[in-house]
Amino acid sequence: MGRLSGKRAIVTGAGSGIGRASARLFAHEGAQVVAVDRAEDAVDETAALIRKEGGTVSSVAADVSDETAVKAFVEHCIAEYGGLDVLYANAGISGGLVPLQEQTVGYWQEILAINLIGPFLAIKYASPHMIRQGHGSIICTASVAGLRANAGGTPYSASKAGVVSLVQTTANEFYGTGVRVNAICPGLIETGMTKPIFDGARARGSEDRIGQLNPLKRYGLPPEIAQAALFLASDDASYVNGQAIAVDGGLSSTH
Ligand code: NAD
Repeated sequence: MGRLSGKRAIVTGAGSGIGRASARLFAHEGAQVVAVDRAEDAVDETAALIRKEGGTVSSVAADVSDETAVKAFVEHCIAEYGGLDVLYANAGISGGLVPLQEQTVGYWQEILAINLIGPFLAIKYASPHMIRQGHGSIICTASVAGLRANAGGTPYSASKAGVVSLVQTTANEFYGTGVRVNAICPGLIETGMTKPIFDGARARGSEDRIGQLNPLKRYGLPPEIAQAALFLASDDASYVNGQAIAVDGGLSSTH
């Protein structure tokens, strides 16, 4: 028996990095997974990997900031698997580092639409099913950048602080429903999003300096975040609610 046997899960941003690792781990632990990403080839590749590993998965190409598309992938999960037990709203973009005076409203709107409104929409359409059945686990990927300064660009950090608030306030709004809502705040993880940082450091021959700011003195890997998501998704976390849990090698404890 896997730790998610019998559960139906949606994972967004499943075409790469943390989302792909989580979708694979959820399926490995027995969940039926709907893998969502706006990059169709990438999410199909994730689904092929999961099937090769013996898991059950369905892939959907969708933009998490598009309300109609979000409603459709939630309905797809219900139609395909007969319900929804776990939502992992993980898709996000970084937006890079742009000096504040050069930032435009459009730049802010794009980051907020994907990183903050995306999780809101997924919760909006997933939660009625969970509330009806009296249980469910919602997980969002925030960031250390949502907890403190100097870990990301301005709109990115604001979007992730918003995600921390979203899970706290939603957990309270779902008072008495049995639905849990939590966030994971990763530190520096090697993924598609952070590729420019890693490529740049490798090109300069300074790879050994990446991830040295935290007490573990190393960067993290996607499966290390997926393990935290698995815990929150599973009944092992039955009393964990409304939390933003840092998985960052101790980075957020240092300032
Ligand atoms: P990634 O780029 O490897 O994966 C993100 C995935 O999300 C990609 O496959 C991308 O196509 C998808 N995506 C982006 N916008 C989308 C949209 N509008 N609709 C659907 N899919 C979309 O990066 P990652 O690091 O795995 O990112 C996952 C989450 O982790 C993000 O929310 C990110 O902010 C967060 N995070 C990452 C780090 C890190 O160091 N990598 C640190 C803290 C938080």
